[in-house]
This record gives sequence, C-alpha cells and structure tokens, in this order.
Amino acid sequence: MRTRRLIVLISAVLIITALLLVSLSVWVAHQNATRLFTGELESFSARVMLRTTMVANQAEEALQRLEAINVPPCSREHLLEMRRVSYSRRYIQEILYFRGLQPVCSSLEGIKKSAAFPQPLAMTPKGYRFWYTAKSDLGIEHDMVALGSAHYVVMIDPESLIDVLPYGAWPINVALIGIKRNLVIASSAPLADNGWVQAIHTHQTQFQHHDIMYHITRYPALNVATLTWTSTTPLDRDWQRQLLYWLPFGGAVSLLAAWLILRILRILRRLQSPRQRLLEAIRAREIVVHYQPIMVLEDGRLAGAEALARWPQPDGTFLAPDIFISLAEQTGLITPLTELIVESVFADLGQWLQQHPDLHISINISATDLGNPALPTLLEQHIAYWHLDAGQIALELTERSFVDSKMSAPVIAGYRKMGHAIYIDDFGTGFSSLSYLHGMEADLLKIDKSFVEALEYNNVTPHIITLAKTLHLKMVAEGIETPQQEAWLREHGVEFGQGWLYSKALDKQAFIAWTERR
Ligand code: C2E
Ligand code: MG
Ligand code: MG
Repeated sequence: MRTRRLIVLISAVLIITALLLVSLSVWVAHQNATRLFTGELESFSARVMLRTTMVANQAEEALQRLEAINVPPCSREHLLEMRRVSYSRRYIQEILYFRGLQPVCSSLEGIKKSAAFPQPLAMTPKGYRFWYTAKSDLGIEHDMVALGSAHYVVMIDPESLIDVLPYGAWPINVALIGIKRNLVIASSAPLADNGWVQAIHTHQTQFQHHDIMYHITRYPALNVATLTWTSTTPLDRDWQRQLLYWLPFGGAVSLLAAWLILRILRILRRLQSPRQRLLEAIRAREIVVHYQPIMVLEDGRLAGAEALARWPQPDGTFLAPDIFISLAEQTGLITPLTELIVESVFADLGQWLQQHPDLHISINISATDLGNPALPTLLEQHIAYWHLDAGQIALELTERSFVDSKMSAPVIAGYRKMGHAIYIDDFGTGFSSLSYLHGMEADLLKIDKSFVEALEYNNVTPHIITLAKTLHLKMVAEGIETPQQEAWLREHGVEFGQGWLYSKALDKQAFIAWTERR
C-alpha cells in the first residue's frame, strides 16, 4: 500500500518536473526565437535606412555638383552636363533645371514645356525642397520623389530607397514613412493602417496587430521612420511544433526515470535487513489485524473472534504471522508489534464490542509481552475509552509463557484480576512437560488443530479433553474443517470451536459483515 503510494508520488513528481522543465526550455527557446524574430525586423529596418541614406546622399551630392556647373542654362553643354551627372548616379532617374517652380529643361527631354511644380511638400533637415508626385510628362502614373536645390531637382524612384532584400527565412515587408504627414514614401507591399499611424507618433518600437508584428525605427534627423512587418504565423507554428515534439519526449523520459528510481528503491528495500523492514512496517502501521470467528459448538452461536496479525505485501499477498511473529520475537520488535495489534483491535472493533457486550476478542500475546508493564495500561485505557468489559478481551498465551512461572504467574494473575480471560494456546504442541499446569491460572484451553485433524485415529485428544475438564478449563477446538469434527467435539463436551468450517480470518469490514449475516 505504502509502496504503491510511493510509486504514484515519485512518478507524479518526476512527470510534473520533467514537463515543467520541458515547457520551460521550450518557452526559453520560444523567447529566443521571438527575440531573433524582432531582431531581424530591427536589423532589416537598419539596412533599409542605410540604403535610404545612401540614395539621399547621392541625390544631395548630385545637387551640389549641379549647382556648381557654370555654363549657360539649358544650352547644349548644360544639358550634356546634366545627363552626365544623371547617368553616372544609379539612383537618379532625371534631373530638371528650374526657374522658381517652373521646370525649364531636363536631362531626359532637353527643353521642357510642362506645368510648374506646386509648392514643395516639405523642406529636408538639410534645406532641400521635397516633393512627392505621380505626375510626369511620360504618360504613365508612377510615384516619384523629387529633391530640389535652388536651381535643380533630381527625380528618384522611391522604390530605390527601400530596395533591400531580407536575409531571414521568412518574408519581411518595409515602408518608409514621412513622419510629419504620415506619408508612405515607399512600401514593399500595400500597407493598411493597422495602428501604425498612431504608433509612429509614440515611443513604441513594436506592436502586434492580429498575427502581424510591426517594428518602427525613427530617424528624427530625416523626419522619416521605417516600418517593418511580418507575419508571426511561422513563429507560432514553430512554438507548437516544439511543444508537440518535446512534451511527449519529456513525459517518456520522466516515466523512464520514475521506473529506474523505483527499481533502485525496490533493490534497496530488498537489501534492507528483515528486521529493518519489519520495524518500518510497524512504524508505518502496515501490519493489520484479521478476525477469525469462534463459535459456541452447542448451538452454533457466535462467541467472539481471535485477532490474527497480517502483513500485507506490495504484491497484494499477506505474509504469514508464523514468519514475522517469530522474527519480531527474535529481534526485539514483539513489544511494539503487540501494542500495534492491541491498538488496531480497538480501532477496528471497539464500537462493535460496545454494541455486543456478550462477545469477545482474543489477542495473541508472546512470552516477552508479559514483561511489558505498558501493556495492561494500554488495555485499560482502550477498554475505558470504549466503555467495554475487560472480559470482552481475552489473552492467548502459548505454553512457553507459563514456563518461567516466577515471572509469569504474578503478571497473569494481574490480567485475570483486571477481568481478562487467559487462554492456553496451541495446547500440547509446545512442551512435553506438563509441570507448568500445576498451580497455573488460566480460564480456557485451545486444543491445537493438530489434535483436531483425523480425530478417529487420534487417541490423545480425548485425554486432553479429560485433562481440561479436570482442571476446570473451558475449551476451544482450533482448525475445525468438517462437520464430522464439529459433531465429535460437541459430543465430547468441547464448548467452543474455531476453523475454516465457519470462516477463515477476515478483515474488519468482512468480519462485521459476516457476523451481520449470521
Ligand atoms: P494460532 O494462535 O494458533 O492461530 C490459529 C492459526 O490457525 C491461524 O493461523 C489460523 O489462520 C489458522 N487456522 C484457523 N482455522 C484453521 C483451519 O480450519 N484449518 C487450518 N489449517 N488452519 C486454521 P495464522 O493466522 O497463520 O497464525 C499463525 C500463528 O501466528 C497463530 O497461531 C499465532 O500463534 C501467531 N499469531 C498470529 N497473530 C499473532 C499476534 O498478533 N501476536 C502473536 N504473538 N502471535 C500471533
Ligand atoms: Mg491464537
Ligand atoms: Mg493456536
């Protein structure tokens, strides 16, 4: 019972520990993956900004270069020079020469006759004019960024500002945002407002909308911000997959560990000395009491029961008292064992005895127990607690207990004075000498089952019966298995009987149920 509980406890603790550890490590792995994930968003936006700065620098450098040209505006030489500047700078699509807001000539078309530009959308921190326009003379709709100095404007394809490939295993999108007007200057994918407009004006660097994670990097010096975003689905899928892999693995490992620990425990238990095992069993109150009915042979009434010790084993069987009682006697453990049995009898049947004042329980006592002064007190306390009659508790002593009569006689007399009946157990099997019967104080003699077997051939049994009658002792015949034995014993004046004919020893519930059925 205790071992089984230990098995369940150890297994449960191990499984819970392993699952916690697995969950913790998967959680840490998930945290790392998340950090990696956002790290990638962050580094991608840094790379995009590097690219944006590079393009902007090129545009500014071109404008400085153009302002330094010193030839008549829109002359052949001037147009050629503008073309050279545009041609040798990969991000510049076109250069326009301006008078105020009016384009006059261009590196692409030569003399220009298009409409004037509107007022610039903004001034860059370095003082350049900035436009964002879809208008061109080419008859196509294409968003362009225009950056202008005093006399020149360079046209840049906004795509080139963010033209960076993500390194990661999953796709990342990016948008370049003009902070002041929430203008999407360039975007690698259509960008709905999922809260970024609001977030960009706070200090927030990261937020999630549904299963999309957004990261914002702000560049106040440029009045722009990069917004990078990606789906968290791969991350979530990875997290679930990890749990699915590792949890069963953790469970299996912990079961294996539990099994191993239990094997070791079992080996250690086996290595324990028998005395140690018995001591632990007594301390853990593992040893229980079963009750075998004792019948009145005359009319088949119940007279009481004998308390018999039982040691339950982990495999569900009971160890026979013949083995562990003599072990207890030899190793000095009989005193605590008898006390345990006495306490168990009252715990089991105290109330039952109270309800049946005419019935008794007999308890087996070893010779050593006669030297235990605590035992009478223990009996007295329990009898008082349950309001019983001392006559309801009989003590069974084997012949051995009577041998040292100097020691035993006063103790036995004391128990009898308390009101307990004294039974001589296993009569005729212990000692060949009958001298102890002389002057002995007892109430009842238990005829050992070896004298009850094969009664028709056994010519000693009638003499035992005669002896008992002579000594005015009542009799219990043990080990009655057949109605013939019962009939013979009844005819010969044996008052009580005990044996498998009536019942084997039963546990407390079964015994009470058995008596209720009778
Ligand atoms: P016992 O006091 O003579 O108990 C009677 C034994 O005969 C019991 O064996 C009982 O199960 C068995 N028995 C009863 N009816 C029959 C039957 O019809 N046929 C056969 N073949 N056997 C029957 P158990 O329980 O194995 O006990 C063995 C001995 O262990 C007991 O003999 C008793 O001397 C000792 N013992 C048992 N419990 C205690 C205890 O709590 N304290 C002490 N000191 N000794 C105990
Ligand atoms: Mg007995
Ligand atoms: Mg006996």
